[in-house]
Amino acid sequence: MSTPADQPSLLPRPKGRVLPTLDDDGNRRWLRPRLSPGRFLTRRRAVGYALMALFLALPHLTVAGKPAMLLDIPARRFTLLGLTFTPTETPVLMLFLLAVFVGVFLLTALFGRVWCGWGCPQTVWLELLFRPIERLFEGSPQEQRRRDREGPDVRRVLKNVVFLLLAFVLGNTFLAYFVGAEQLGHWMRGSPAEHPTAFAVMALTTAAVFFDFAWFREQTCMVVCPYGRFQSVLLDRQSLVVGYDHARGEPRGKVGKAPPVGDCVDCQACVITCPTGIDIRDGLQMECVHCTQCIDACDAIMDRLKRPRGLIRYSSQAELAGEPRRLVRPRVLAYAAVVTGLVVALVAVVSTRRPAEVTLLRTIGVPFVDRGERVEVHLRVKVHNRADAPRVYAITLAEPGLTLAPVAPLTLGPDEAATAVLTVLAPRERFAGGRATARVVVDDGQGFRQELTAPLVGPLGGGP
Ligand code: SF4
Ligand code: SF4
Repeated sequence: MSTPADQPSLLPRPKGRVLPTLDDDGNRRWLRPRLSPGRFLTRRRAVGYALMALFLALPHLTVAGKPAMLLDIPARRFTLLGLTFTPTETPVLMLFLLAVFVGVFLLTALFGRVWCGWGCPQTVWLELLFRPIERLFEGSPQEQRRRDREGPDVRRVLKNVVFLLLAFVLGNTFLAYFVGAEQLGHWMRGSPAEHPTAFAVMALTTAAVFFDFAWFREQTCMVVCPYGRFQSVLLDRQSLVVGYDHARGEPRGKVGKAPPVGDCVDCQACVITCPTGIDIRDGLQMECVHCTQCIDACDAIMDRLKRPRGLIRYSSQAELAGEPRRLVRPRVLAYAAVVTGLVVALVAVVSTRRPAEVTLLRTIGVPFVDRGERVEVHLRVKVHNRADAPRVYAITLAEPGLTLAPVAPLTLGPDEAATAVLTVLAPRERFAGGRATARVVVDDGQGFRQELTAPLVGPLGGGP
């Protein structure tokens, strides 16, 4: 009897592989990679567990009384290592973002996708926490596949309960980076009815983390993350990659079989261990996250066969093709020069940051009032206190001949901003061509003093 699988599909079949996680008919192909212990896995575990600890601890750490890291989007304040930045600090944000972008280019040109394999939370949490827990509950890849065929059992259900708890911890830790650990604790202690929005956000983050690590998994790297797609332009033939030594391995074949073969015994160990389901022997592929599991798998086989390790190894496309390896090249030098320049500029801007920001705003309403001998002009001055303590800002004029109507000093708490409206009286003859200037001084009496030159608009026929 023919089954649906035997019947010809009405849909066009793709020619060749679309994604390793998809069957020909477009259904999900679950990857059940086998763990390959080895020197790289040991190192990745050390790095990965340290990063996990850092991720969990960072929202609870303080530097100089402030969170070590807080991205307070509603308040539009970003705190990093005791320094608070606001979106108005455009040069700092611009330099920081540029330095990060060009830094990623440099890192990729030198070390390929080292970030993906060793530092990205997606790989680190999935491969070093969620998959090990899955193996604990569901056993070997063969047993997991049996469960795929036969349907979920109690062990799979229990595993998903543990995943859900972990997703709750991870999702809420992630949230703490945006709202602060204290606020999050407050929400968690309160009833959901008291904080319905906060509760919804917490539930959504937990659900998103659970969906990602329990179901979507490696597809995040393949179809969501743009970094993998950029590889073709960010990598060159000299970049470090996990690569298969084609010249040494081919022609592949079983041990002892004639005709003479290369070192690859076609055992498939590198394929069944790959968490993205690819065969590294097909060459550099977008799906490869450089997790090094195929290196460990192949090294173990080579050890058993008493052949040298490194049939799959960290190398470069040029080196694998027999060309010399060149670490220093124009692209690397250019990126390094730009990153150095940006970091130096960033350090200079941050270290010379002033404890307050004073901005002259546009006048609202009529630009001036003609009072005969004198002209009345209104100015608006915004002061933003960036210091960690309250400050009182006195506003005066440093312009002989002009009079400033009494203006109350601005008392501002840390990170507070306020606008003062100044009324300036200027002699009519000061306005040459309808224009004059006034020097406005803002002083907090504790070392901060800033002088601004404000343009005054007056009557056209006022000047000499
Ligand atoms: S693990 Fe090594 S020997 Fe085995 S198939 Fe892969 S490359 Fe060949
Ligand atoms: S090909 Fe190797 S390095 Fe790349 S993802 Fe697969 S196992 Fe990891």
